[in-house]
Amino acid sequence: MKIETIEPHGLCAGVNAAIAKALGLRNAYCLHELVHNEMVVGELKALGHIFVDRMEDVPDGATVVFSAHGVPPAARRYAAAHGMTVVDTTCPFVAKAHRAVRDFAGRGVPVAILGDPRHVEVEGVVAEAVDAGCEIVGVGAPPFDAAKFSGRRIGVVSQTTMDADEVRRQTAELAKSFDVETAADVCLVTKERQDAVRAFCGGGGGDGGLAVLVLGSRTSSNSRRLAEVAAKCGARAFMAGSVDELRALDFSGVARLGVTSGASTPERFFEEAMRILRANLI
Ligand code: SF4
Repeated sequence: MKIETIEPHGLCAGVNAAIAKALGLRNAYCLHELVHNEMVVGELKALGHIFVDRMEDVPDGATVVFSAHGVPPAARRYAAAHGMTVVDTTCPFVAKAHRAVRDFAGRGVPVAILGDPRHVEVEGVVAEAVDAGCEIVGVGAPPFDAAKFSGRRIGVVSQTTMDADEVRRQTAELAKSFDVETAADVCLVTKERQDAVRAFCGGGGGDGGLAVLVLGSRTSSNSRRLAEVAAKCGARAFMAGSVDELRALDFSGVARLGVTSGASTPERFFEEAMRILRANLI
């Protein structure tokens, strides 16, 4: 089996900055998983950090860390009202989506929000729109039941870690019924990593033996997207979030394996996985 690294891969600046800020703290409260990676979360727990899903579970006056995925405006108000120290690690790409919906609200433009409605990033953007009084055409994937907005100008904002091709497809679908204005889109890092997987798959694998291994947690949206992109390109897609998961994979029949990792996967796991793969220790 020929093993190749797919470049670029791995930690993005947004996640790196969030981890660095949290590593400098002790015994802080993190609203949601800081990043969707069990190794990183485990490391932060060892520093005494406590992970909560509701602001009500953070004691008054405590230090609270907002994750790279952003938070609803109500979380900021709650923190201020309860004397908390906020360490905000919201990624600039996510903050851009929040600004975009406020801008659409200010101009009276309703907004369509593309992405996974159950993902905390999307929940935060939806809450921002509601808070700003922005009309919402739909959340998730079109078609939306949005007859009342037909023919009107609408804003389109997408989750930062979607498949860029899928965003284009869904935006084109919306453009059939609305005058579409796009704002915040898939982040640059996500696009680059998806493009790198497509380029690798474009090289072929001979006899159907092409495969891509994505190192990253299944809870990580951008990691799952990389596996989906590989599968759409005709490659077999594998995922592993730990050494144990990697060792459990069956690569029989694979002639050419590309290895990439999600934006929340520590490089040390990537290096360890490459060492195991190259030493044929699976
Ligand atoms: Fe920011 Fe993109 Fe990294 Fe998410 S994947 S933290 S949006 S740079």
